[in-house]
Amino acid sequence: MLDEKLEPIYADVLRRNPGEEEFHQAVREVLDSLGAVIAKHPDYAEDALIERICEPERQIIFRVPWIDDKGRVQINRGFRVQFNSALGPYKGGIRFHPTVLLGTIKFLGFEQIFKNALTGMPIGGGKGGSDFDPKGRSEGEIMRFCQSFMTELARHLGEYTDVPAGDIGVGQREIGFMFGQYKRMTNRYESGVLTGKGLIWGGSRVRTEATGYGAVYFVDRMLKRRNQGLEGKKVLVSGAGNVAIYTIEKVRQLGGRVIACSDSDGYVVDDTGAGIDLELLKEIKEKQRGRVADYAAARGAGTTYVPGGRIWEVPADIAMPSATQNELNGQDARTLVKNGVVAVGEGANMPCTPDAVRVFLDAGVLFGPGKAANAGGVATSALEMQQNASRDSWTFEATEQRLATIMNGIHDRCAEMAEEYGAPGNYVLGANVAGFIRVAEAMRALGVV
Ligand code: GLU
Repeated sequence: MLDEKLEPIYADVLRRNPGEEEFHQAVREVLDSLGAVIAKHPDYAEDALIERICEPERQIIFRVPWIDDKGRVQINRGFRVQFNSALGPYKGGIRFHPTVLLGTIKFLGFEQIFKNALTGMPIGGGKGGSDFDPKGRSEGEIMRFCQSFMTELARHLGEYTDVPAGDIGVGQREIGFMFGQYKRMTNRYESGVLTGKGLIWGGSRVRTEATGYGAVYFVDRMLKRRNQGLEGKKVLVSGAGNVAIYTIEKVRQLGGRVIACSDSDGYVVDDTGAGIDLELLKEIKEKQRGRVADYAAARGAGTTYVPGGRIWEVPADIAMPSATQNELNGQDARTLVKNGVVAVGEGANMPCTPDAVRVFLDAGVLFGPGKAANAGGVATSALEMQQNASRDSWTFEATEQRLATIMNGIHDRCAEMAEEYGAPGNYVLGANVAGFIRVAEAMRALGVV
């Protein structure tokens, strides 16, 4: 039930953003937590602070024309939603996926505001992307697409204005093509305009690993509060992209065993020895750009590949959904709880449906929401911006230490806020409230702008 003061705000969001279900879902989830805030601090309901947070500062939609390898003209749609700049320049990734619509980017941008606030770093929230499908495209096609995309986007960016990075479908290769085009257009080596860059051209150590590593630190800290640890735990990690791979790596470093991972075609169970063979998975995903089915075929005996199945049916202690939004529903959550899951950490953005989140919270499962648990990626982007601004390059150890400190800080802030607002152990409420208060305070200080 929504607080009665928040009901008309949500009704307005629905009316003014028709058909954007994912955006509605993301807003609803935050508003559900804000009832506790305005009950304690009614002033947060004044000055239309909540309404303002729900309205992007700027939304850019543009045509992206490019020529494929057969010489045919292709047209895609590009987006950049500059959602909130109260805390710093807009910051957030770019997603290339055929399902991307304006509502997708708005949900991601909205989440990003609170996530970025939670990191404690000076970054606002934004997100971008395109309905371009990189699957099956040659390197030349990807480059031409990235160049065309950046040709329009460049006029809206800048190290003090808006700083994109990667997301689904956009990794270091695509960031490189976009940075190259930006550099050519502006005739400036403005390193701080994009993050997720390669190490020798302005990138930061640990940025590649950061989202996965950070999510595992978060889960580990939740477990430690209950005097448990990752040691000996069986873990499911959905996905097989950047977040999943480095989640698997850190789980293993901390003594856990990842026994399954997946992609949109199916999942693989590898419950022998150390679990998923990380080196083989990296080779197939990062070098060959192959599929989980290729991993299963190469790994051979001892693995089971289940085409089209749901990874959440595999019994395990911990689940880390690290693929995409709404990939884990209420039924999946009930199956996980029945099989004895003790902790869930969202590596992806909004991977659990609201129904699933409710099931976990009601069952007393430790639940780390994406805006807190996966904030390590964007936090390390902010560290990359710091290094760019000071023309410095930090060691792996120093950077990872900063990441660990930031993740522990996020965890503790969420836990404290949950307690203060009457819902101890509820990290969803803690994350939403802590993120909201930081942004709302800054917005109030900056006046009606
Ligand atoms: N796309 C990532 C996220 O969802 C990282 C964004 C960034 O580094 O700017 O947080």
